[in-house]
This record gives sequence, structure tokens and C-alpha cells, in this order.
Amino acid sequence: MMSTNKLIDKFGRQVTYVRISVTDRCDFRCVYCMSEDMEFLPREQVLTLEEILSLSKAFVEMGVTKIRITGGEPLVRNGIVKLLGDIAKLDGLDELVITTNGSQLAKLAQPLKDAGVKRINVSLDTLGAAKFNKITRVGQLDGVLAGIQAAKKAGFDKIKLNAVILKNRNEDEVNDLVQFAMDEGLDISFIEEMPMGVIDSHSREEAYYSSDQIKHDIEKAYDLTASNKKTGGPANYYEVGGYTNNVGFISPHSHNFCETCNRVRVTASGLLLLCLGQEHSMDFKRILRANPTDLNKVKEALVESMKIKPKGHDFDISEKPVIFRHMSVTGG
Ligand code: SAM
Ligand code: SF4
Repeated sequence: MMSTNKLIDKFGRQVTYVRISVTDRCDFRCVYCMSEDMEFLPREQVLTLEEILSLSKAFVEMGVTKIRITGGEPLVRNGIVKLLGDIAKLDGLDELVITTNGSQLAKLAQPLKDAGVKRINVSLDTLGAAKFNKITRVGQLDGVLAGIQAAKKAGFDKIKLNAVILKNRNEDEVNDLVQFAMDEGLDISFIEEMPMGVIDSHSREEAYYSSDQIKHDIEKAYDLTASNKKTGGPANYYEVGGYTNNVGFISPHSHNFCETCNRVRVTASGLLLLCLGQEHSMDFKRILRANPTDLNKVKEALVESMKIKPKGHDFDISEKPVIFRHMSVTGG
């Protein structure tokens, strides 16, 4: 018997937010996320759509109110729209959101909205077509821009851009990206590169461009006022003078958000990760497959997992790689 229907860890933090990676595959090969030749998981090692739905149900019945579907690229997974529709219907879930590279949005934005997705994050690191192709190795900027327009038309509650900024690659575009976001009526968050997985394109230490530097660049052109919006995550938000949208900074290298951490992640292979920057995990693929019809067993395991949620992470870009999982496996 479970003594509680909440997920509370040994530091008293309640988990209400889960990020689920539905595939490790992607149609892009962003230089900071993947190496050029990636080996993807064999199909049988990836959670089925039914397993993802069962796990989502268990989480929601244990007090989770927000689920983010991510990847790899979530929108390349077959059956994703139906899965999102099923998750959106779970009783008790307030918010279903996705993170996407935008490549499939031109055709899927409206079906996603109709399925019940409330908000979307679209990754966009540059507004230059050639640079976009260089950073993503294979992606096309036009398709993503068309996807953003389709998303605006579909009428999501909020669309946010995510930009990873690398020194000597796209740090000169910070203010162009801010202006693009403000003109389009979108929020934008800038993300520091994290040392996730072995990559072959650049030295992470050499390419590191801090949130402080990005903020400093933006303040040369815009008035930023700290917003009191709190997410329990590594993001700080600012209002931009003269505009209604916000700019955010995601600084995973700083530790000060760990105390209020309200989230866990599930990899494409069903590994529950208790902290993005640590290896503490529990294998929910095994648990789901051993108990295909008994959700209580899954919920009991979720309660058990709370005992190993670590206090915080310890990223260090000078010791590479700190975490051997790629971001595409972890789910961003
Ligand atoms: N494919 C989707 C996309 O790109 O939005 C979703 C998955 S992707 C792993 C989620 C987010 O993680 C993206 O915004 C991406 O830019 C970011 N990301 C990937 N690798 C990263 C790294 N090493 N450091 C920081 N952010 C990273
Ligand atoms: Fe794919 Fe997203 Fe990783 Fe880029 S960041 S390679 S789009 S999973």
C-alpha cells in the first residue's frame, strides 16, 4: 500500500513536472547535441506509445500536473499526435507541452493544438540559412520558420524560442534573435551549452558563452527588468522594455535552482533520471514490462525512486564529458 499519492523526495521537494523523451532519433544533428554519426537505440529498447501513456498516467495519478514531451525530435515519432491527445486527456494534468526543432511544425502545428498541446518550445539558434545548416548539420531554416508561422496561426497559449549560444558560432546573433522574437510576439530563452555526451565538433570549454555575457549583450540594446516568474527550474526571466514578451536565461551551470527542483526526466528507453546532471536513475522500462496491467506497481516504484533524487548537480565544462548521455537521449 502506498502511504501517499504525491512524489516527495527526501529533501521535501515535490515532483510535479516530468519531461519525457519519446525518441532518441532526430532529423537534425545539432553540433552541441549529437556527434555526426550517431547510433540510435534499437526499437525494442524504446518505450512503446502504450508504455509512455501508462507511465504518464502513473505520474499524473501521483500529482504530476505538467508533462513536457521532448526527444530527440518528438515529432518524428510515428503516432505522436495520437499519443499527445491521449496524454492531454489524463485527468489531473494541467499542462501538456512539447519541445521541438520545428522541422515538422508546418504540417503538425494544427493537429498538435487540436490534440490538446498547450504550449510549444521551438529551438532556433540562428536566423542565417547557411549558419543554420552548419549548426544543425542537415536542417533547413526555411522549414522551421514556416513551422513557427504555422504554430502562431494554430493559436497555442504560448510559443517560446530556445537558443543555445556558442562563442564564435552564433553569439553575434543574440540581439537579432531577441528582435525576431519580439517582432513575432514570442518569448525567447537563451541556453548555456551543457556538457552532455561526447561530441566531435568543438571543445565545449572553448565555445562556452555564459548567460551573463548574453544578458550583457542584450542590455546594450534593450531594457531588461527581472520578472518574478519562477519555474522551479534553471531559468530566470526578464521583461523587455517596450514589448510584451519575455527573455529568459537558462543557466544550468549555476546551482541555485536545485533547492526548488520540481522535475524528473524519462529517457526514450524508459530510464527515470532523478537529476539532469547526475546518474541516479531507475529503469521503468523493466518495471512497466514486468507489470503491464498493474499501474500500482509502477506508482510504488515512482514513490521508491524519490529516495534517490540527489540534492543537486555538479556540472563542470572543464572536465569533459561529465555526463555521458547525449541530450537527445535525456530529452533536454
Ligand atoms: N529536438 C528538439 C529540439 O531541438 O528542440 C527537442 C530535444 S532537444 C535535446 C531539447 C533542447 O535541448 C533544445 O533546445 C536544444 O537546443 C537543447 N540542447 C541540446 N543539446 C544541448 C547541450 N549540450 N547543451 C544545452 N542545450 C542543449
Ligand atoms: Fe535534434 Fe534537438 Fe538534438 Fe538538435 S537539439 S540534434 S534538433 S534533438
